Amino acid sequence: MTDKIAVPSRTREVLAKHGISAKKSLGQNFLTDGNILRRIVEAAHLNKQKGVLEIGPGIGALTQYLADEAGRVVALEIDQRLLPVLEETVGQQEHVEVVHGDVLKVDLHTLFAEAFSSVSSVSVVANLPYYITTPIVMKLLEEELPLEHIVIMIQREVAERMTASPGGKEYGSLSIAVQYYCEAELVTVVPRTVFVPQPNIDSAVIRLTRRTVPPVDVADSQQFFATVRAAFTQRRKTIYNNLRSAFPKEAGAHDMKEVLLASGIEPSRRAETLSMEEFARLSDRLGRLKAE
Ligand code: SAM
Repeated sequence: MTDKIAVPSRTREVLAKHGISAKKSLGQNFLTDGNILRRIVEAAHLNKQKGVLEIGPGIGALTQYLADEAGRVVALEIDQRLLPVLEETVGQQEHVEVVHGDVLKVDLHTLFAEAFSSVSSVSVVANLPYYITTPIVMKLLEEELPLEHIVIMIQREVAERMTASPGGKEYGSLSIAVQYYCEAELVTVVPRTVFVPQPNIDSAVIRLTRRTVPPVDVADSQQFFATVRAAFTQRRKTIYNNLRSAFPKEAGAHDMKEVLLASGIEPSRRAETLSMEEFARLSDRLGRLKAE
């Protein structure tokens, strides 16, 4: 156990000692609440046989808690100024490695092969930089990394979209993209007051657990995601109108109303009411028309 830095006074002290001010452009809001850190770490179900990739360790608040539970921690930080701080707060522990890099540019497969050969599984646990939440999550999912869990703190509004079910205003192409790959659960909502400096939005922690098979069977996943994006282009419009504008070639050759009805979908519905199964049926039918 190390002396924890996740309290406001200690966080300010560490930043001042190193002459560092938080960079808004890098989404630097440091977490200063031990209870929330414990909730995050608990949600990842770690033990000494398991490894963790932390994205954006900052000054090491979450890293300290991860190092207490996991057998190996790799912390990937873009801001060079924070490396000496991390060296001091977490770098002395043998099973912790701080890596300088941009998560969107790093080859994560190579990093995993090099850094995690000694552990039985790896999870991502992070308080993400909010300006790139979606690109990071999509990179982790689309690159099919062998991850047990992804436990992340993100903007509350994005968390609600990622975990949304059909029927509400939060449900959209992001909900479907995430839930196609993972089971998505809300762990806890986090008020803005527990950060230094305070962001102007609330946050939430979610857990994503990779599915072994997708929840729907689709002939072509690219066609499926293209159909979903097209359907949500203008949320207020009907699915029929959105599809007609998005797929003019197919709409010229076929009556889109027929295509929808043949997929079991009333053309006057809006995309937010469609389940993943309905999108899958529609996408397969559109794919067949394209191939004709
Ligand atoms: N984990 C710390 C905590 O909970 O207090 C800091 C979290 S802070 C919200 C986000 C962190 O991500 C910052 O340390 C920031 O420098 C880092 N970061 C921003 N963009 C990054 C990127 N592209 N790759 C890796 N780290 C990044």
